[in-house]
Amino acid sequence: MTFSYHRTYRGPIKALLLDWAGTTMDFGCMAPAVVFIKVYEKAGVPITMEEARQPMGAHKRVHIQKISKIDSVRQRWIEKHGKEPAEADVDRMFADFVPMQEACLSEYSELIPGTLDVVNACKDRGIKIGTTTGYLTGMTEINRKDAERQGYSPDCTVCAADVSEGRPGPFMCLQNMIKLQVSPVEACVKVDDTVPGVEEGLNAGMWTVGLAISGNEVGLTLAEWNALPKAEQEAKRAYAYRRMQTAGAHYTVDTIADLMPCLDDIEARLAKGEKP
Ligand SMILES: [Mg+2]
Repeated sequence: MTFSYHRTYRGPIKALLLDWAGTTMDFGCMAPAVVFIKVYEKAGVPITMEEARQPMGAHKRVHIQKISKIDSVRQRWIEKHGKEPAEADVDRMFADFVPMQEACLSEYSELIPGTLDVVNACKDRGIKIGTTTGYLTGMTEINRKDAERQGYSPDCTVCAADVSEGRPGPFMCLQNMIKLQVSPVEACVKVDDTVPGVEEGLNAGMWTVGLAISGNEVGLTLAEWNALPKAEQEAKRAYAYRRMQTAGAHYTVDTIADLMPCLDDIEARLAKGEKP
């Protein structure tokens, strides 16, 4: 055949898929980081905040296992216990993690400024709101209720326990599409504060926005961030933008409050026939 033909979606955005911690609530993504530190402390191998945050975004059991494989942690584990961290150790720490995380989650559930404005602006435009998270069912339910109390009620929630493979796999995003009954993938935008969360959106074939300041890459509460000297803010901002851009995010902005211009730009690109 001399010619081939292809279809192009030129319609509007139909769904916005938002992560939870570090994206819509818990500025700095503090809640999980704090509990990973406690769990490893209990196992006799204290870890640093940086080690605790490295695999952020993954299913929480996978996260605990990934920490155990960081060279520095593995070495200290062997020094302490005389052997490599094993599956049974990960299982035990995960069993510790779940109730500890559920117990303190609500202390970190304040909505990130701008969340309600973005969600309401999207709903006005007919854009459905879905969510994905590395949290498990009970934790997600706590987040959902705390969000509802503050006026944020997404149309759909999918957590790591609902799919066979969490991030960076695309399945939570795709499950949202099924539950929300939206298509095609080009009409969906994924927003996240972690590298595996950005990869999740890209793997699903969606437009993907990375959040640099409100999440895991800076890892500070809003008060801590605001108290930082300008020069330090700029250094941390530059690092976080680089991380998101290297992960392949189509756009990177500071926080969810800066999202609407990205959505306008995506719709303009869709109208011209561009794909993610
Ligand atoms: Mg997050």
